[in-house]
Amino acid sequence: MTRSAQTVAPPDAATRRKATPVVTYSVAQLPPFDAAFYNAARAEMTKVSELIVPPREARAFSVPAGHFFRIVSVDGPQVGDLNLWNAHDLSERFFSGKTRALHATHVSTGDRLWSTMPSLRPMATITHDTLDWYGWDEDGAGVHDVIGTRCDPYTNMLLKGTEYHHCCHSNLTRALVAERHMKPSEAELLVHDVMNVFMCTGYTHDTHQYFMKASPVRPGDFIEFFAEIDLLGALSACPGGDCGASHSDDVAKCYNLKVEIYRPADGALAGWRSPSPNAYSRSHGIA
Ligand SMILES: [Zn+2]
Repeated sequence: MTRSAQTVAPPDAATRRKATPVVTYSVAQLPPFDAAFYNAARAEMTKVSELIVPPREARAFSVPAGHFFRIVSVDGPQVGDLNLWNAHDLSERFFSGKTRALHATHVSTGDRLWSTMPSLRPMATITHDTLDWYGWDEDGAGVHDVIGTRCDPYTNMLLKGTEYHHCCHSNLTRALVAERHMKPSEAELLVHDVMNVFMCTGYTHDTHQYFMKASPVRPGDFIEFFAEIDLLGALSACPGGDCGASHSDDVAKCYNLKVEIYRPADGALAGWRSPSPNAYSRSHGIA
């Protein structure tokens, strides 16, 4: 609500506002994060591949289930927009909204990245985050948000009336076209709301509008994920750079991002099983 109210508050407005907040989804009811298991698995892992994502571009990468991947800051503060799909069924993809509802507006170690319904299962688990010290700042901002959508040329057209082809939405579309040899019109429909890696965001205190501020990420920082299922990923080095001023243009200073894939030591995953799709019957009460 960015406009002032037109309706006079009812006499019991204060009472109504005093209702007790209840956390909508209890984390305690989710599958527990087994830190000992993940830490043991990541203790002796071997890097098997890496790739560079150039500024204002995106690149796709594959991560087999049971492997780790890191997104690494290498040259300077840079935000990355991450998409994840089930490598064998691109209709199952990262579900930003439910991840936010289950965990929080910003995610870190121990949180899962959940997939879309009907599978609704953990696609990846965050196993390390060198920016976990940041917490919540005085503006209410945090790092690694799952509230933003991705910069895109349609919103840019609405707001500026100009064409720009290096928004994260277009970068991710081009990366998927190159990886899966799809038509652009097909690929773009598979691009989805992202996890904003390294991005520092929040809602303004007065109007609750989405804001961004310069990312605290520095070269050497990384966030690490464990692939719970076979993943196809795509990462865009956002044209906003550190997203401290603008996006959807060529103004910001932008830097490479690096993606590294790691294989755990033999036997490190003993007892682990890739999560099955959600067990709901899908009958929806229809006989
Ligand atoms: Zn972007």
